[in-house]
Amino acid sequence: MDEDVPSVEELRARLAEVRDRIALSAQRRGRAPDEVTLIAVSKTHPAEILRRAIEAGVTDLGENRVQEAEDKILEIGRERVGWHLIGHLQSNKARRAVQLFEIVHSLDSKELALRLNRLRGEEGRGLLSVMIQVDLGGEETKTGIAESELPELVQQVAACEHLHLKGLMTLPPFFEDSEHARPYFNRLRELRDHYRAEGAFADGPGELSMGMSNDFEVAVEEGATMVRVGTAIFGQRAGKKL
Ligand SMILES: *Cc1c(COP(=O)(O)O)cnc(C)c1O
Repeated sequence: MDEDVPSVEELRARLAEVRDRIALSAQRRGRAPDEVTLIAVSKTHPAEILRRAIEAGVTDLGENRVQEAEDKILEIGRERVGWHLIGHLQSNKARRAVQLFEIVHSLDSKELALRLNRLRGEEGRGLLSVMIQVDLGGEETKTGIAESELPELVQQVAACEHLHLKGLMTLPPFFEDSEHARPYFNRLRELRDHYRAEGAFADGPGELSMGMSNDFEVAVEEGATMVRVGTAIFGQRAGKKL
């Protein structure tokens, strides 16, 4: 196990490479590289590796399970790094999630919106930022809310006084050739533009959380403002794909 643990120097090099690729993709579309936030997805990796990643310059970490994230957040704290919940949130973990996170990328139902709103209010922690996860892959992915249900959920979030709609997120089906993911990213940007014009994103332009290790360059070309990159920074995860 231990021999696979990347050093701070190794992590610094991988981060620099990912950041270079983000910058080139942004520049191809006349975008400024600093419009894109790199979220290092640290799920399954132990706190020690996360510490090294922070040492190497990571500013944002993405976790997909509340329990696993809790252990790491308690160990590492929030002073030097922001924590993003990017995985499906079960309703019985919602209270812990609103206590631990300031941003959830995976809002996928009206029920969850109402629950997060109520709990955040009870906890008295100010606004919780949420991104709505849109399922653009239909049968192939089944993660997130169907595009047809998006208008209602946007309205619902607007009516939630403790939630702040920050943007949209998607996770396209996996393709060997990342070009095949482009239509999904393009569609999410169209949806974001539509809701931006409607003023749905109260305090910003509407973030687009899209792009992973295998397709973040295409996502940035299509307008991503947050990319969620795990493997390209931390290496392969052990065990089954999460
Ligand atoms: C695991 C995960 C990622 C990162 O995947 P990589 O292919 O390792 O970059 C991004 N987003 C979500 C929602 C994930 O669960």
